[in-house]
Amino acid sequence: MYQFNEYQASEHRYDDEKILYKRCGASGLRLPKVSLGLWHNFGSKDNYDNMKALIFTAFDHGITHFDLANNYGPVYGAAEENFGRIYEQDLKPYRNELIISTKAGYDMWPGPYGNWGSRKYLISSLDESLKRMHLEYVDIFYHHRMDPETPLEETMLALDQIVRSGKALYAGISNYNGERAREARRIAKELHLPLIINQNRYSIFDRTIEENGLKACAKEAGMGVICFSPLAQGELSEKYLHGIPADSRVARDGRFLHKEDVIQPEKLKAIRALKDIAGERGQTLPQMALAWVLRDPEITSVLIGASKPEQIVENLGVVGHTEFSEEELQRIDAIYQSIAGLLDGHRHV
Ligand code: NDP
Repeated sequence: MYQFNEYQASEHRYDDEKILYKRCGASGLRLPKVSLGLWHNFGSKDNYDNMKALIFTAFDHGITHFDLANNYGPVYGAAEENFGRIYEQDLKPYRNELIISTKAGYDMWPGPYGNWGSRKYLISSLDESLKRMHLEYVDIFYHHRMDPETPLEETMLALDQIVRSGKALYAGISNYNGERAREARRIAKELHLPLIINQNRYSIFDRTIEENGLKACAKEAGMGVICFSPLAQGELSEKYLHGIPADSRVARDGRFLHKEDVIQPEKLKAIRALKDIAGERGQTLPQMALAWVLRDPEITSVLIGASKPEQIVENLGVVGHTEFSEEELQRIDAIYQSIAGLLDGHRHV
């Protein structure tokens, strides 16, 4: 049996409402400019009390949006289960204040129906996610990646059925390029499906959405963009400048971020140079890295991860200081260009 606690959300959580929330494309939904993802630190071996501290710290500071996927863990499903436990114990009274998203599209269960973008996979996966999270509906359900084989009509019709059945309020797509996103949006329009958001990686170190047409498509289609790994999984901080700290992602869970990538001397030099610019702006490097993503009017939210509650508080310091001078942007671009070749070879997710 669950033990019910007595979490009371801070009464000041919406004090910064005017600066914290932004409309998601042309939709009616406003998202916090900083959202929290549960990809790491919510697995079956992670500390449950820390998970609660992360979620409560976020919500107490006005972060209303929590992002999951069917296979976040490890083990697959564990992040949804842990979130579901916290929800059941403490967050349930706040359901109407929360935007909870999940996804399906990557490997989840064995056999031909536990991956990619078929109607069979998406509908059964969301049913399982809802059970794990003790929810009747999610706010956003995403197709997690492009499927080169399943017809896009089938995937979009599955999302449409999911929304019409009340199991999700909005639909989204993740890791799509501009061309596929445009096609998805066209089909969604015909169906009157609220396909309102793209979830893609974007950071000072990863400019893919500028190159593959996604950002341009989102603007043209009035869709929002929420950017994952805006800190390049923690590389855009000071933490790896003097080795690998024992409590860092590389040391604790290096499935997608490897030691040999974070200790490259050229990259560390670039990070030091970025840190200098952040200092001149009166920001920490993570704050500047998040500001760099949010500087763009097309971007709705930065989707951060955190291993400690203090990181969330530090990162929220970005809100209200997302303007850059032309000179700052040029200096950041020059640093990026100096290691761009290095970065291209090390995109793991
Ligand atoms: P980030 O780039 O924000 O990296 C988060 C990590 O950076 C933290 O876990 C922490 O790592 C470190 N960190 C955060 N803040 C600070 C700080 N202030 N100072 C120092 N270090 C800091 O994002 P993630 O890569 O975690 O991705 C965020 C979310 O995006 C995921 O949880 C998921 O929801 C989503 N996502 C979606 C994908 C998709 O395909 N749609 C793919 C990947 C992610 P440490 O442990 O070292 O402290």
